[in-house]
Amino acid sequence: MSTSYTQGGEYLRPLRIHADRAGGRLEIDWADGHHTEYDFVTLRWLCPCAYCRGEAGMPGWLDSSPSLTLAQTQLTDIQLIGEYAIAPTWADGHHTGYYTFDRLRSECPCPEDEARRRERPHARHQLG
Ligand SMILES: [Zn+2]
Ligand SMILES: [Zn+2]
Repeated sequence: MSTSYTQGGEYLRPLRIHADRAGGRLEIDWADGHHTEYDFVTLRWLCPCAYCRGEAGMPGWLDSSPSLTLAQTQLTDIQLIGEYAIAPTWADGHHTGYYTFDRLRSECPCPEDEARRRERPHARHQLG
């Protein structure tokens, strides 16, 4: 048994990240055995970048509830950012959103996690 504690532990360590482009889903298998699946549309709406979310009190693009085009919800590539995040590239060229593992896990849309969030609304983690 290792006594070293990596950031977030097993809970936040993805063993496998798979973008299923044909199925329009992102799948993540976590080290603790949990499985997370996002459809690309849901994932796009979660984009945490300053453009989508706003900054310094200004609302972001997603706050204006835009109707997303097909290109904006089509994932073309996904990049691993260090040991803590992924950056998807969307078909419209948008690629500035760093989705931390922390966020991807805490927003997991499975029924189990939906129920947990209803019972215990969590404080959103913010980057930077
Ligand atoms: Zn964005
Ligand atoms: Zn879940």
